[in-house]
Amino acid sequence: MTQTCTPIDVAFPKQRNTSQARVVWGSRVVTVGGDAPVRVQSMTNTDTVDAIGTAIQIKELALAGSELVRLTVNTPEAAEAVPYVREQLDRMGIDVPLIGDFHYNGHRLLTDFPACAQALSKYRINPGNVGKGDKHDRQFGQMIEAALRYDKPVRIGVNWGSLDQELLAELMDENNARAQPWDAKQVMYEALITSAIDSARLAEKMGMNRSQIILSCKVSGVQDLVSVYRELARRDNYALHLGLTEAGMGTKGTVASATALSILLQEGIGDTIRVSLTPQPGEARTQEVVIASEILQALGLRSFVPSVTACPGCGRTTSTTFQELTQEIDGFLRGQMPVWRAQYPGVEKLKVAVMGCIVNGPGESKHADIGISLPGSGEAPAAPVYIDGEKSVTLRGDNIAQEFRVIVETYIEKRFGSHSTAKA
Ligand code: SF4
Repeated sequence: MTQTCTPIDVAFPKQRNTSQARVVWGSRVVTVGGDAPVRVQSMTNTDTVDAIGTAIQIKELALAGSELVRLTVNTPEAAEAVPYVREQLDRMGIDVPLIGDFHYNGHRLLTDFPACAQALSKYRINPGNVGKGDKHDRQFGQMIEAALRYDKPVRIGVNWGSLDQELLAELMDENNARAQPWDAKQVMYEALITSAIDSARLAEKMGMNRSQIILSCKVSGVQDLVSVYRELARRDNYALHLGLTEAGMGTKGTVASATALSILLQEGIGDTIRVSLTPQPGEARTQEVVIASEILQALGLRSFVPSVTACPGCGRTTSTTFQELTQEIDGFLRGQMPVWRAQYPGVEKLKVAVMGCIVNGPGESKHADIGISLPGSGEAPAAPVYIDGEKSVTLRGDNIAQEFRVIVETYIEKRFGSHSTAKA
């Protein structure tokens, strides 16, 4: 019997029309929001006073793919160090824009240290940490004045760990007067969003253009983040910085961040992201950049490195050859990217497959640009290689890994090299 049906929608993240900010250093312009790609951000964990150490970490983060890097500016000494950090980076040819992270004394630091205010490309202001009572608006205003003076955009970054307690108390009182009071969590959501949007309105009243304002309302629970950002996005079209604050360590932090960010990014919410991962002892700070990039790449929003599709392996892969080859190819492709990015434009879209046996090996390899199907246990010791969907060659013997790597390199040169006429 013939069944009438309609084509199934191809899933893709929605697009949200936000205002667009420009974060600038020298000739480097990083647009955030509007039709710009979702940007990857990170933050240093060095003492900013150690200008050399901080510059080295920023360089590592930038080379790993961070398009904006935030650093702590918490003391006069740190504010004094910022221009030296910038100078070191400029000397190393690293033009990544820097964001100053201010709490409590940002109004004084931005006023007293003009070279710091100038060297930064954006200021992060936390409305929960700019002062209490009548000092709140005045000190917030001083930071906005600095942003206007130096023509810098700001992120008004609210965090539930440092939420404006006066505002929260006010909203709690209002809630108590309701015939049917909201849940305490809903009042807290409201306080986060009100703090961000009211602060943005105040900044606009002082003369800032809305395109110079980015908002964030970070919380550490996945469902809380989804609730808050959906509402924040519904209420206005400021560009949004998205991140699950205090995500935690290792697998937990990675999964929680990926889950929360993916739900919102799929809905078109989020113009720039940060993964707030606690590094495991000995783990590189750049891991947060790798995860943020992987989230965007997995959603099909951006491409940063060639992707390696690999099966999980099973009882048909009793040797470790397949795991080793996957690891080697993945490491090789990632390791080459700092050079390949300029040498082979478009190479980040390359898809490679490394598969464990004949069950799904040839099929998955044909879906990739270049794929190899290794022999599972019981199969003849031969590994067919597929290029652009066609079987190209069969590798045998002890040098399969090396030979496959050469094949991949040759393919990249041919397809993405300067003499290539092939469309990347
Ligand atoms: S492709 Fe083969 S080795 Fe890989 S998971 Fe499937 S059956 Fe197992």
